[in-house]
Amino acid sequence: MDTAEPSIFSRIIAREIPADIVYDGERIVAFRDIAPKAPVHLLVVPKTQEYRDVVELAAGDPELLAELVATAKRLADEHGAGDFRLVFNTGAGAGQTVFHVHAHVLSGDAERPLEE
Ligand code: 5GP
Repeated sequence: MDTAEPSIFSRIIAREIPADIVYDGERIVAFRDIAPKAPVHLLVVPKTQEYRDVVELAAGDPELLAELVATAKRLADEHGAGDFRLVFNTGAGAGQTVFHVHAHVLSGDAERPLEE
């Protein structure tokens, strides 16, 4: 059983915190980033907060990681310009702030670098 405090993303998934949810599947949810860094900036998030980052997810549930990537591709097609960046910040030193694994889908402005 996961006894950790709910992450901010778990609270969004539980509808305790509002978000612009664009996809709600059985195991994955996606919503718009609150501070977008590109014209299309989605967060694609497993509903479980069991995995802190993509390395843990890849080791623990590679099928879920594959589903996350496929979902990102489909949402990028639906919301963006087709081609997109898929970013997994991994570790605080790389800018990760929410330790509930998530993919950033960034699309629509290839000129703009991903900066905080
Ligand atoms: P990280 O830096 O961990 O890779 O990315 C976390 C992302 O979550 C950031 O881009 C940040 O803007 C976004 N974020 C943090 N809190 C919220 C929130 O309450 N709602 C939404 N929609 N996005 C959030």
